[in-house]
Parts: sequence; C-alpha cells; structure tokens
Amino acid sequence: GIPQISTGDLLRGNVCQGTPLGLMAKEIMGRGELVPDTLVNEMVTVRLQHPDTANGYILDGFPRTLVQAGWLDGRLAEQATAQPGGLPVIAVSIHVDYNQILRRITGRRNCPVCQTIYNVYVHPPKQDGICDVEGAALVQRADDTEEVFKERMRTYEAQTAPVDEHYRALGRFAEVDGDRPIDQIAAGIVAAVERLRK
Ligand code: AMP
Repeated sequence: GIPQISTGDLLRGNVCQGTPLGLMAKEIMGRGELVPDTLVNEMVTVRLQHPDTANGYILDGFPRTLVQAGWLDGRLAEQATAQPGGLPVIAVSIHVDYNQILRRITGRRNCPVCQTIYNVYVHPPKQDGICDVEGAALVQRADDTEEVFKERMRTYEAQTAPVDEHYRALGRFAEVDGDRPIDQIAAGIVAAVERLRK
C-alpha cells in the first residue's frame, strides 16, 4: 500500500518528455555515471510531496551517494521532530553476483506499452522481441549495454558502496541475497524490514 519511487524511472520519464532535467540527464545516464545530487534531490523532493507517500514509501535507486544519504537523513530527522512516531529509515542492498547482474542487465527488454520486463536468457517472450501481452516491439534501455554496464558497476563501487557502510554504521542496513527466485528475495526484504523497523 505504499509507492515504489524509482529515481531511474523518474529520470527516464524526464528524458522521454524532453524536460530541461531530462535533456541534461540523458547523456550522463548514457555514460553510466550519476546525475548531480542537487538535481536528483530536488526531483525526490517534488515526488515526496505527492499524497500517496503519507504512509511511507520505497525509494528504489536512491540514495546513491553519501551526499544524497546525508540529505535524506536530514530531511527525515526534521520530519521526526515535527511529527514523532514515524518509522525509521531502513536501507536494503540486494546483492547479486557480478556475472549474474551482467546477464540480467544485458538481457533485459521492456514492453514500451505495459512496461513488462523480459530477459532474453531467463524469461524470454514467446515470440522473439515481441511483448506477449501487447504484441508491441520490445525495447532495450540505452544504458543496458555491456560497455555502459561496466561503467555503472564502477560508479556503484566508488559512490554507492559507501552508502551501504553509512547505514550499516547506523544499524539501519540489511543485505539481502538477490541470487534467488523473486519470492524468496521479497521474503528476505520483508524479514529485514521487520527486524530493523523497531
Ligand atoms: P537505474 O534505473 O536505477 O538503473 O538508474 C539508471 C541511471 O539513472 C543511473 O545509471 C544514473 O545515471 C541515473 N540515476 C538513477 N538514480 C540516481 C540517483 N539516485 N543519483 C544519481 N543518478 C541516478
């Protein structure tokens, strides 16, 4: 009953609509680098004003730098002072083997109409390149090539791995094994959230 807010999806929406943010973000995303913190934080601020976030929310792909984490922590601390009794932040990192992520990312294809995600290796559509539901031609994200994948992984190690350590030090961090079927990963996330929400 709470929204999943993916900063990658929000940025791709801006790219599609050709907004000033989208025009600036497109090339950065295409290189596998991170969009500047101030722009992403501002985008998250706007999204969190939506009333569907009143009971909580899942941030997917955010925070991705220590600056973003510090900004989020400050914002949540302010809210906790204004409205005590809310739930604390819980950071979950889904850990997947490097070669497995490579297959998931380079094999990923999306339906542009219903957004169903396929994978040419492990979950292919019935007809090559065509969505089972909509019959639409599947598309591949511009940054899901092997070359950009490698840069995204380097970016992760340099800028996002420290965010794990930040929340680990605060006792608000869980790592979940993502090399399992989806239902088991989901159960692992729920168990981690229940353990850490106290
Ligand atoms: P994702 O859909 O999460 O894989 O994100 C795709 C791309 O969007 C990333 O490689 C970044 O270029 C950009 N992006 C998404 N989330 C963030 C973020 N929190 N901070 C900076 N850039 C981001």
